[in-house]
Amino acid sequence: MRVLVVGQGGREHALVYQLKRSPSVTEVYCAPGNPGTGVDATNVFIQATDTAKLVEFAIKNKIDLTVVGPEIPLVNGLVDEFLKNDLKIFGPTKKAAELEGSKKFAKEIMKKAGVPTADFRVFSNAAEAISYIDERTDERCVVKADGLAAGKGVVVCQSKAEAREVIKKMLVQKQFGTASQQIVVEDCLIGEEASILALVDGSTIVPLESAQDHKAAHDGDTGPNTGGMGAYSPAPIVTSELTDIVVEKVLVPIVHEMKREGRPFRGCLYAGIMVTAQGPRVLEFNVRFGDPETQAVLMRLKSDLGQVLLACASGTLDQLEPLEWDPRPSVCVVMAAEGYPGDYSKGKPIRGLDEAGGLPDVKVFHAGTKITSEHVVTDGGRVLGVTAVGDDLPQAKLHAYQAVKCIRWDGAWCRKDISDKAIRKGLKSYE
Ligand code: AMP
Repeated sequence: MRVLVVGQGGREHALVYQLKRSPSVTEVYCAPGNPGTGVDATNVFIQATDTAKLVEFAIKNKIDLTVVGPEIPLVNGLVDEFLKNDLKIFGPTKKAAELEGSKKFAKEIMKKAGVPTADFRVFSNAAEAISYIDERTDERCVVKADGLAAGKGVVVCQSKAEAREVIKKMLVQKQFGTASQQIVVEDCLIGEEASILALVDGSTIVPLESAQDHKAAHDGDTGPNTGGMGAYSPAPIVTSELTDIVVEKVLVPIVHEMKREGRPFRGCLYAGIMVTAQGPRVLEFNVRFGDPETQAVLMRLKSDLGQVLLACASGTLDQLEPLEWDPRPSVCVVMAAEGYPGDYSKGKPIRGLDEAGGLPDVKVFHAGTKITSEHVVTDGGRVLGVTAVGDDLPQAKLHAYQAVKCIRWDGAWCRKDISDKAIRKGLKSYE
């Protein structure tokens, strides 16, 4: 198979890396890719949002399967254009991608399907939203912009005063443009968060191994929210019992409801869950692989990823052998540029990549990097996803941080506690 991966982050590098190892895959391209995918595959200089050029490339180069990483091309309808041209593609159509593209749509379909989630109301008028806030008994609530807002459209408000301000910013000052023309106001849930990712081919659901993300910038889950500073797999919070409950009460009903509504879901369905005292509740759906969870999860995949994604895109997941996983856990540590998640500088030469990548059980996934005539340099906030496996979680952590130590650039930093939460939860610690 000749495979094209669309995107340019750490998630896409992990997909490329596993596709290249797949016996069914002969050639891997990545558009636009990064210096890391340029080593493991052939980069193609087409942006992920340039639908017409991607279709043209796939036809000309006889691509057998295209795999879409990021959400924006999915929500824009990239998959629909490929399907119109009889091209095989992994990812949901525009109508199915609304599960992530519109919080209002996601909440309403969850309600129809009977999926457990926080009670909510939808507003487009600020005065109406504020009078709803005034009537509520709970001081806290969560305000969400309806559309995609680069991960910044959700505010957990600790007081009614804060909620009123957020509502005004979103609906009156149009903070996120058309993405905040409508908002969802929902009850605040208490518990521990977990993500469950599954491959879905329209009907059949195949859950992937679990992973836990680290959203906060600094150690001990402090500091501002980020795109994710690291991940580990498996996540002890995602027990097989929790997975079974989420499959039964969330994934099966939502997949069936989507099919009933003429929006069959094909691709990776990511359920963000709050495990409350009353059981799991859905916080959000994403319609693609998570980043950096994918780096940690795919590091452990032993099956032929090309075959797996092709079966998903073809609606034949039910005929696939069960997925095979490396039982050893993995840890992915994100190395970031100084200033991230605020403003950060670019263009800093990165040293030690070969040394780190040469260590056993380690893979350095590129995210925000660029190649100049002399060096690989930083080109984003999250620069690298240094990922390793080990016989147990402490050893996987040790391997990942040994590799991190080899890599240097001016202003490089990372969290030092990726996976500690899980290690504390009962596994032996090496500290
Ligand atoms: P979302 O994009 O909807 O998952 O929201 C981003 C983050 O906001 C989640 O990962 C949670 O930490 C938090 N969040 C979202 N909805 C709620 C809720 N109903 N209750 C408490 N926290 C929430």
